[in-house]
Amino acid sequence: MQKNKALILAHLDPPRKRLKRRAALAVAFFSLFGMVTAFGTVRETAQPSVERVMVIEKLAISAAQVPDENAHVFWQEERFDRGDTLAALLARLGVDPAVAARLVRENGRAKPFRALRPGMAVQALTADHGDLLSLRFVAGRDTVLGFDRTPDGFSPVEEPAEFSRAVQMKTGEIQSSLFAAADDAGLPDSVAIQLAEIFGGDIDFHRDLRKGDRFSVIYETLYHQGRAIKSGRVLAAEFINDGREYRAVWFGEDPDGGSYYAPDGQSLRKAFLRSPLEFSRVTSGFSTRRFHPLLKKWRAHRGVDYGAPTGTRVRATGDGVVQSAGRQNGYGNVVVLRHKGRISTLYAHLSKFGAGIRRGARVSQGDVIGYVGATGWATGPHLHYEFRVGDQHRNPLKMVFPSAEPVPVARMAAFRDQTGPYAAQLDQLRSVEIAALD
Ligand SMILES: [Zn+2]
Repeated sequence: MQKNKALILAHLDPPRKRLKRRAALAVAFFSLFGMVTAFGTVRETAQPSVERVMVIEKLAISAAQVPDENAHVFWQEERFDRGDTLAALLARLGVDPAVAARLVRENGRAKPFRALRPGMAVQALTADHGDLLSLRFVAGRDTVLGFDRTPDGFSPVEEPAEFSRAVQMKTGEIQSSLFAAADDAGLPDSVAIQLAEIFGGDIDFHRDLRKGDRFSVIYETLYHQGRAIKSGRVLAAEFINDGREYRAVWFGEDPDGGSYYAPDGQSLRKAFLRSPLEFSRVTSGFSTRRFHPLLKKWRAHRGVDYGAPTGTRVRATGDGVVQSAGRQNGYGNVVVLRHKGRISTLYAHLSKFGAGIRRGARVSQGDVIGYVGATGWATGPHLHYEFRVGDQHRNPLKMVFPSAEPVPVARMAAFRDQTGPYAAQLDQLRSVEIAALD
């Protein structure tokens, strides 16, 4: 029996100007809890039950400039498609053909239309008989473009987007891959990738994931006039990997400066990343089977192999200096990095090197040092990764790495104030789930 549960958990911050922050804002805040009934029957073995979380957001209603209170006006939205024409788009938006023709004739070369790209959603405010009053769409990250009706025709509009910010909470369980679970939970890719990055010092998302691993995540989504514009930062997250619990909370002085800590203030940033491979939708489901049967002829296998498509980005797992970058027989194109503490890391079979990767170059953790390939003795594209301390090969999957600095003692009170609520929400999310499983 499939247990398709849904819980609704959302609260909203008031709309706010990104550019002009307003000091005084009425705070609209609510929290909803609810459950939706289970449905559907799925063969138990073929497709195990999946945690499903739905988030319903209350959205900011766009403020339309209505010339006459008695006029019947309404906003309509249509997507501008590939191969679309302005005339076709305006027709779908219910704009009178003569009005549309005039707009295009007078403003077809104006900035708003030049910035319009396939995939953008365009909203039109029309009055009776298809009379166009306003046209709006979001261009880029935070600009709204469009036209307003004036006595003389139409005048172009460019204004900062007014976003409402919703905090969402979602939870999921891993059956095959993180992205499959993210899809089931309705979690955007960018949030799944952030999860992998946040816990990248503790969990190798290419090798460590187990069926039954669970995650909960609290993150921001920015809305403009009711549409999700983008997913923002993860504010807090929990990952239960192979029975071990990891939690992260975001803590920063300002919206753009901060980092992730455990709820006790310990840094989640480690001296080395667990995986040298960039995490993405493509690599997440890739087989990790062995790639070199030729190996026996070469040498004992002393590394970890990551199957990934050619061209996948390979990252320096720690800060260091390039000791060598070049071609060696079995390794093919190989980079060796030297780190503190007589540690070195090796990345082999690369298709090409990262920009500026040559002997003596300094690299920081996460920098791209090369791209996955199948050079040297490799039967398919994969990354061969070695970790050495002095002359000794070590299994990087089993190493314990030191952490970066914890939250300074003087900041702990602020840390608790800011992050305490998130930890409580993660607890809440977990208890809701357990209750729902009964
Ligand atoms: Zn190997």
